[in-house]
Amino acid sequence: MKIVRFDRDGQGIWGVVEDSTVRVMGAGFKPSNEVLSLSDVSLLPPCVPTKAVCAGLNYREHALELSMDIPEEPIIFLKPPSCLCEPGGVIRYPSMTRNLHYEAELAIVIGVLARDVPESEAHKHILGYTCANDVTARDLQTKDGQWTRAKSFDTFLPLGPCIETELDTANAAISLRLNGETKQHSTTADLIFSIPYLVSFVSRVMTLIPGDVILTGTPSGIGPMEVGDLVEVDIDGIGILKNTVG
Ligand code: MG
Repeated sequence: MKIVRFDRDGQGIWGVVEDSTVRVMGAGFKPSNEVLSLSDVSLLPPCVPTKAVCAGLNYREHALELSMDIPEEPIIFLKPPSCLCEPGGVIRYPSMTRNLHYEAELAIVIGVLARDVPESEAHKHILGYTCANDVTARDLQTKDGQWTRAKSFDTFLPLGPCIETELDTANAAISLRLNGETKQHSTTADLIFSIPYLVSFVSRVMTLIPGDVILTGTPSGIGPMEVGDLVEVDIDGIGILKNTVG
């Protein structure tokens, strides 16, 4: 099932994708009789997180690209919900940076509150998966010595276009295209820390609320974006998250 959220008069409405249409979901996530054309709705980020927890250095090749050692446990950081950017939305190029980077990532969407969850139970807390772009001001990441400013500007978390609830995460292909040219390409088989491990690990640090997301790290091939660029995160089985830089 592919779950979307779309805007109607300033309100976020849930829907389920059926081919090229969206069935509107009512109270209690019950299907209504209303069906809209997918091309007619204005998509929002597909969930409403209280926080986005991000794993750094979780693909072997990306750790090598940065000349970093493979970490013994996940390095995690937060992006605030004010970072969210909708599918099709504009990633704002802040005046404070001169080196704005994309990072294609698979995002885990939490469906059931998770606190101190063992790895074997992690799947019970996952609603599904979506595409994310962990937009980063690379120069500020280096300059500040920690990552809050570099990762947290408004629009630095494009998310969507949908939540796929039945994704096979064993070997899902993930790509990033910049103006049509492939810049990152890998599969989730290259993850250092697995999805159940990440959910368990984070839940032992902080309570995860339904709608929260865990970004699972980016593959090798990170690089800069410029104003006017089209950036696409493409994950097999989920779809394509498209944004422009402005
Ligand atoms: Mg990242």
